[in-house]
Amino acid sequence: MTRTDQRTDIRTTPRRTVLISGSGIAGPALAFWLNRCGYAVTVVEKAGTLRSGG
Ligand SMILES: Cc1cc2nc3c(=O)[nH]c(=O)nc-3n(C[C@H](O)[C@H](O)[C@H](O)COP(=O)(O)OP(=O)(O)OC[C@H]3O[C@@H](n4cnc5c(N)ncnc54)[C@H](O)[C@@H]3O)c2cc1C
Repeated sequence: MTRTDQRTDIRTTPRRTVLISGSGIAGPALAFWLNRCGYAVTVVEKAGTLRSGG
């Protein structure tokens, strides 16, 4: 895993990619921290609109 300095953005190895299925609470939270750790993250969501409850 590559740690990057946001200002200089120098990477020595290609970013590892992660696909997260679901953008409820956990999905975006996990995406945020994985991105902070240098992963290239994609979040997919099957619902077309926001859920009204839960
Ligand atoms: C009516 C209700 C009231 C609640 N009230 C509270 C409360 O007051 N306080 C509290 O702390 N918790 C509350 N909860 C619980 C809280 O909503 C859940 O704990 C929380 O949403 C779990 O988050 P999650 O990201 O793990 O899962 P979810 O929020 O369920 O997110 C999962 C997401 O994955 C998506 N998904 C599923 N399958 C796929 C697929 N194959 N491909 C792509 N996307 C997919 C779903 O559409 C969904 O958006 C409530 C729950 C309900 C149902």
